[in-house]
Amino acid sequence: MKKITLTFVFFLIAIPMLANSAIRDAEMDGYFRELAAPLYEVAGVADGKVEVNGRTNWNAFVMAGRIVHMNAGLIMAAPGPNVLRGVLAHEIGHIAAGHVARRLEFQRDTRFLSIAGALLGAAGGLAGSGDVVGSGVMTGMGLQASANLAFSRAHEAAADQAGRKFLTQIGEDPKGLSMFLDMLDRQSGRNRSDILQYISTHPMTPDRISMLESTPDPSGLVDSDNTKLMHTHRRVQAKLKGFLMDPNAVLRSYANETDIPALMGKAIAYNRLGRSQDRDAMLKQLDQKDPNNPYNLDLAAELYYTSGELQRSCATYAQAHKARPQNPIIALGQAKCLAKASGEEKQAAVTLLLRFEPNLSDLVSYWTLLARTYDELGNQGRAEAVTAELRLRQGKKDDALWFAKRANQSLQPGDPWHARMQDIISSLDRG
Ligand SMILES: [Zn+2]
Repeated sequence: MKKITLTFVFFLIAIPMLANSAIRDAEMDGYFRELAAPLYEVAGVADGKVEVNGRTNWNAFVMAGRIVHMNAGLIMAAPGPNVLRGVLAHEIGHIAAGHVARRLEFQRDTRFLSIAGALLGAAGGLAGSGDVVGSGVMTGMGLQASANLAFSRAHEAAADQAGRKFLTQIGEDPKGLSMFLDMLDRQSGRNRSDILQYISTHPMTPDRISMLESTPDPSGLVDSDNTKLMHTHRRVQAKLKGFLMDPNAVLRSYANETDIPALMGKAIAYNRLGRSQDRDAMLKQLDQKDPNNPYNLDLAAELYYTSGELQRSCATYAQAHKARPQNPIIALGQAKCLAKASGEEKQAAVTLLLRFEPNLSDLVSYWTLLARTYDELGNQGRAEAVTAELRLRQGKKDDALWFAKRANQSLQPGDPWHARMQDIISSLDRG
């Protein structure tokens, strides 16, 4: 029987980082949870989350589901967390009011759309999953972004009002909303293409602007720019700039700065330029200023990994994982590194991946890494079983059934994957 390995060929193609891909990074995930969770809570929206993509123009939008999509360009330009909370509150206003559901009833679950988008792209050599930013993992979202429709003016005004209410309820000064409008206004003269997308999907009206610019009663409200969130904001900005901007431009922009975000941005830029000694000097200073910070370790491990220093990367990931043992994105980074090593470490990668399946199962790169590692360990049956799970999540039922049946030709009945395949087969095989 011919080996299945060829099936994985397109997963193995090295895929460049792409603007349309979602970015996962342990520290950034935590930052957006902290910004958004209280807003989702007061809005009465359960299971809401924020997904950041690598596009450099300014946009934030909602699709089906409870996800606010935010472009990296907007985060890099935002002066602080207060503006981001303002933008998030507005988008969550759209979600809470059901604006999206009404526009997009025809849309299928975007999570599957995004996975399908990643694979369509990968198959066409355009986009894909599996590449990495920070400790982050890229997934595709091309289909979602192209289905980005404009709201009506009435919906815009309602989202502003709701957003302002949510911000006040969580004790955040709602001035971030009007600051964002100022940002758009100041930008509109020179670099219009950066903001056109936002304006085309969130129409501006004089009413909207005057409502947002009216001063709220600030008593009892906190401007999160004056809290420790500001430091996290600058660290996240440094990572996005480091990975997404031209590295020489990054070095210029941080040229006269030596604080923690500057060291991070410069370390990433040097790494991309192949200047590993300069990178190491930055990482050393970073460690001296902020010793044993798990996110600094995570970043260093990622930089070593991308420059091919595998042993050093795995050792550093292990330190980060030890400091944050429950963090799924750091665990995925460590697994990715271990999977490149020898047999015993590949086995450790599998164990780690299985432990975090509930947290990572919405990432294509999770399933492809697991399938590839089983494949390299010579366990064809499990590699096929994992592929069946991925195909099922992508809505490709025929493929899922085919892989599940094929897997169970070689898996032993006592193998837990055998039972999982049995479930897939009995739910899909109806004649
Ligand atoms: Zn809007």
